[in-house]
Amino acid sequence: RNSLKTESFILSVDVGTTSIRCHVYDKEAQIRGSCRTQVQPLYPEVGHVEMDPDALWKGFITVVTGAVQDAGVQMYQMETLGISTQRGTFTTWDRDTGVPFHNFISWQDQRAADLVRSWNRSCTMKAIHGLMKVLYFLTRQKRSLAASVIIFSTQHVTFRLIWALTHYKQVRKAVAEGNCCFGTIDTWLLYKLTKGRVHATDYSNASATGIFDSYQMCWSGFLSSLVSLPLSIFPKVENTGHNFGSTDPSIFGVSIPIMSVMADQQAAMFGECCFDVGDVKITMGTGTFMDINTGSKPHTSVAGLYPLVGWKIGSEVVYLAEGNSADTGTAIKWAQELELFSDVKSTSAMAYSVSDSGGVCFVPSFSGLQVVAPLNDPKACASLMGLKPSTTKNHLVRAILESIAFRNKQLYELMLRETHIPITKIRMDGGVSSNDFVMQLTADLFGRKVARPEHHEMSCLGAAFVAGLEVGFWKSREELKKLQRTDKTFLPRRAPKVAQLNGNPNREYPPVPQSWERALKRSMNWYKT
Ligand code: ADP
Repeated sequence: RNSLKTESFILSVDVGTTSIRCHVYDKEAQIRGSCRTQVQPLYPEVGHVEMDPDALWKGFITVVTGAVQDAGVQMYQMETLGISTQRGTFTTWDRDTGVPFHNFISWQDQRAADLVRSWNRSCTMKAIHGLMKVLYFLTRQKRSLAASVIIFSTQHVTFRLIWALTHYKQVRKAVAEGNCCFGTIDTWLLYKLTKGRVHATDYSNASATGIFDSYQMCWSGFLSSLVSLPLSIFPKVENTGHNFGSTDPSIFGVSIPIMSVMADQQAAMFGECCFDVGDVKITMGTGTFMDINTGSKPHTSVAGLYPLVGWKIGSEVVYLAEGNSADTGTAIKWAQELELFSDVKSTSAMAYSVSDSGGVCFVPSFSGLQVVAPLNDPKACASLMGLKPSTTKNHLVRAILESIAFRNKQLYELMLRETHIPITKIRMDGGVSSNDFVMQLTADLFGRKVARPEHHEMSCLGAAFVAGLEVGFWKSREELKKLQRTDKTFLPRRAPKVAQLNGNPNREYPPVPQSWERALKRSMNWYKT
């Protein structure tokens, strides 16, 4: 009992899209206590997705106190706090009073879709793209000022922030008076936890906003002048592992140093120990995020892989290239709401109970199709094709799960084609990685071994790892690798043939079955604007 009182722990919080969770980690990186609360998104208008900043703050306090209680230990035993957050969700607030001017505008929010479309089609952007491609192909010059504005997306902050500046008079007034703070969720939490003393973010979060130049490692003066964003509202960008300040004692009764702030996908990468060039992690939660470690250089993509700062720790900067598919967990949730199944755990067995999907193809595109050029289409619809009178729930579930693996395959092929980096290992996490059918089919389609960790919440673990390294709780990355626990490794069921990229490693499943690709193409350009 006494040793329990002197033992110290790392506290880590992950603010996700569907929930906020906190874990208390011990020296063995075992979870000793946890607490989770749901995030309640607000839908004030069609296409608008918001979150209440005060509800989020209360949720944060609830999970931290709940997790420490659950561990049966005391707050003073928390050596440090790490924070991982969803990316691109932001608000603005009054620098003096700390009162937000509006709700968080979520990364899922579509209010700026028209603005994004018209900018991407504009002559200015066409000229920039042309220039970039020439630069890229002629000189292989990868340090370009304009390089972080490849293709605008509503997931980036840029145009939603322009929308806020246009529509909220009080924000414009505060900007004019030099009294406006912009912040993604991490920045807001830091501000609240330090009672307004700190207005900061880290490189991983900044690089995911779309306004940050990952090549120059600063807020992009080029982009902000291009789209008229005031640089004065942006937070200071700090290392991912850094003493961001301590929590005000009035909040948890003690002062806990905040030693890491990290964006969720980058944190998951660190949690998966993907420290080396060529390491890949695939997180399948609400959406799928596939990241490859590209080392000390950002990867300039012509097909839409987004260059991100993975982390900056000391003087080391690690870059990632990322591809994503928005509808993974959302497709599962939708199927559950339709009552195709009651317990999500039964879906893998349902899919295995039939030998194929009975000709049914599902296209998971509730929010359009992302990245995979030329299949990048915000106007694509979700669809179910090939239904027959003989189609059962099992066929439908199988088609939905297959579609998640097929999208994985598309992202993977793009990554191979674009980066030319030999892949060293593939780790898969997130809620949907609990599904053996999806895991096995992904391994089969890739023709490669994929591994699933024991705990799926890698973002929380990643933020804990960085914070723990900063305070010497853990000594080295080698030590972290030893703490990594694998639940199950999925081997491809048939050996890959010679042509790894375009060949067909599996007779049962060509790289992406033609029927599914046909369904995908038919779903494209469905919504007219
Ligand atoms: P996020 O971090 O984006 O909030 P999570 O990583 O917590 O998401 O994943 C949640 C999703 O995982 C939910 O949509 C849930 O339906 C799905 N999920 C959980 N278990 C399974 C399973 N065994 N098979 C398929 N999907 C699952």
